[in-house]
Amino acid sequence: MSDSGRKKLILVVIDGLTPSMLEDTLERGVAPSLGLLAANGRYRRAISTFPSLTPVCLSALATGAHPDVHEIPHLVWYHRGERRLVEYGSSFGAVRAAGTKQSLIDTIYGLNASHLGSRAVTVYEALEDAGLTAAAINITCYRGRHPHRPTVPFLTRPAHGPSTFFFYNLFESHVTGAPLSVRNRPRGTIDAYAAAVGRWLVTRDDFDFLVFYLSDYDYASHAQGPDAAHEALARCDEAVGALIEAAGGPDDFLERYAVLLCSDHGQTTVSEVARLEDVFPDALVTASNRAAMVYTDDDPAILARRLDGNSAVDVVLRRDGEKLVARRDGSDGDVSQLDHPDGPARAAAALANPNAGELIVSAAAGWEFADLAGRHHAGGGSHGSLLAGDSEVPMLAVGLDVLPASIVEVMPAVLDHFGVPAPPYARTLTKA
Ligand SMILES: [Zn+2]
Repeated sequence: MSDSGRKKLILVVIDGLTPSMLEDTLERGVAPSLGLLAANGRYRRAISTFPSLTPVCLSALATGAHPDVHEIPHLVWYHRGERRLVEYGSSFGAVRAAGTKQSLIDTIYGLNASHLGSRAVTVYEALEDAGLTAAAINITCYRGRHPHRPTVPFLTRPAHGPSTFFFYNLFESHVTGAPLSVRNRPRGTIDAYAAAVGRWLVTRDDFDFLVFYLSDYDYASHAQGPDAAHEALARCDEAVGALIEAAGGPDDFLERYAVLLCSDHGQTTVSEVARLEDVFPDALVTASNRAAMVYTDDDPAILARRLDGNSAVDVVLRRDGEKLVARRDGSDGDVSQLDHPDGPARAAAALANPNAGELIVSAAAGWEFADLAGRHHAGGGSHGSLLAGDSEVPMLAVGLDVLPASIVEVMPAVLDHFGVPAPPYARTLTKA
C-alpha cells in the first residue's frame, strides 16, 4: 500500500503494440504474464495522440495532454526560437544529418529540459509534489524535480527526473547491477535492462508509482511489420513476468500493485515511400514515418494545394486565422468533420502547438515519408498518421476505477488513483 491507502501503481508501456496483436496473443494464451493481467483487469481499445509518434505520445502519456499543451510536435521539427532542426532519432542516418551530438543532447536533455511545455505538468511532478514516490525506467518524457548526475563521462550536465530514475544506463539513481542496455537492440537488450531494473525496484518495493517503458517491440515491429513481432512481444511478457516474480508471484503482485498497460501508438504496414522535400523545395520539410511538417513564410493555403491528388497524403492540416482547416481529396473542410478516431480533437491540438509547421501532413494508408537521410521502413511497419491503425492502442487496467479511452487520460487516471488533483487542462474521466 502507498501512504494514500491505495495500492501502488505500475504503468507498463509497450512501444508500438497494436490492439490486434495483444488481443490475438491473449486469445492464443501464449503470454502468461500479460494473460494474468488481462484475466484480472478490464480491457478496451483506446486512442493515441497526433502525430502518433513516440516522443509526442510518451509526452502525452506523462502529461495527460495533447501537443497543444505539451508542445512536442514530432520526431523531427524546426525550432523557431533557435532557428534549427530538432531530431529525436528518426534513424541513425537522420541523426547524423541533423548533427549527432545535437540530436543526442536534444533527446537526452532538450525534450524535458526545454522543449516540453511549461504549462504541462508531468505525472512525476504531480505525484512527488503530493509527497508520493515516483520511479521511471527508460521513458523519454521524464521531467521531474530531482537532479541526477550522469553515469558516463561524455555527459556532464544533470538531468531532472523523478526521485527514482533510470535512463539507458546514462542516469541511474541507484546501483542495481543491471546490464548495459544498448549492447544488442534487435535481441532486446534495452528491455532486458528495463526488466533487471524493474526486478530490483519491485524487490525493494520503494516506490508508489513506476513507469516501466519497453521500447524494443516498436523496433522489431518496424522491421517485421505490425502484428508479426511475436518474439519481441514474448520478451515483453517475460519483462512483465520479472516484476511479478520479484513481488513473490501472481497473488502477491496483484495484492500489492494496480497496473495500467498500454502502448503509445499502433503501427500499420507500409510499402511505398514519398519524399515531400521534392514537393516543397522552397519550404522546410520535417518528415519521418507517417507524418510531416512544412514550415514556410508563404501562404500555407496555396502550398497545401500542391498535395492535391498526391496518393501518399490523406489529410493536410493548417490554420487559417481562427479556422482549423483539414484539406482532403482536394477540398478544404473543418477539422471537426474528420472521421478519424478522436480526429477533430487530435488535429486541433496538433495545430495549436506553437512548434508545429504551417502545414501538418498525415500520410495515406500504406505510405511513409522519407526522413532527413532518406530512410524509411517500406516493407515493414510504421506509424504517425491520424488513421485508425496508427492511432489505436490497447488499454488494460487492473485495480483501477478508470479505464482510459485515450492516452491523454492515463496521467489523470494515475493521479485519480492516488487522490491527487489533475491539472486544469486534463480531460474529465468517466468512472466505471
Ligand atoms: Zn516507431
